[in-house]
Amino acid sequence: MEFNFNIKEKLFTEEEIYLFMEEALKECLKSLSEGEVPVGCVFVYIPNKKIILKGHNLTNITKNATTHAEMNCINYISDLLQNKQEKNLFIKKFDINEEDALDSKKLLNKCALFVSCEPCIMCAYALNLVSINLCMMLNIKRHKESIFRL
Ligand SMILES: [Zn+2]
Repeated sequence: MEFNFNIKEKLFTEEEIYLFMEEALKECLKSLSEGEVPVGCVFVYIPNKKIILKGHNLTNITKNATTHAEMNCINYISDLLQNKQEKNLFIKKFDINEEDALDSKKLLNKCALFVSCEPCIMCAYALNLVSINLCMMLNIKRHKESIFRL
């Protein structure tokens, strides 16, 4: 993992960072209200800065220990991109370049993840496998966001 605090200046404004982190926290509150460990995230497609995926923990509801916020989004988009009709609707809805949507790895490589806490080792590894471009997490202790590249 490489810390690089210059990334945020290049890709997102302070306002955008707070907006996306706020959306991740809304997802986090959803999991809390459902009796889950409160973790939420959003994936932002960097070329147009649209939120294309939102997720929160579902481990208690699904009785599946792997259904973490980030994993749910990765699994959802992997499945969706294999269905041509759903994929085309998704591309149109979020104005995604067709080349970027060939598979989940290509798409998530063009995305930034905003997550309410540091990804666990399972999610961090999965995010690395799908080549996530950037991960921003809320650092409660420092009261500001942290940025890292996997
Ligand atoms: Zn996790």
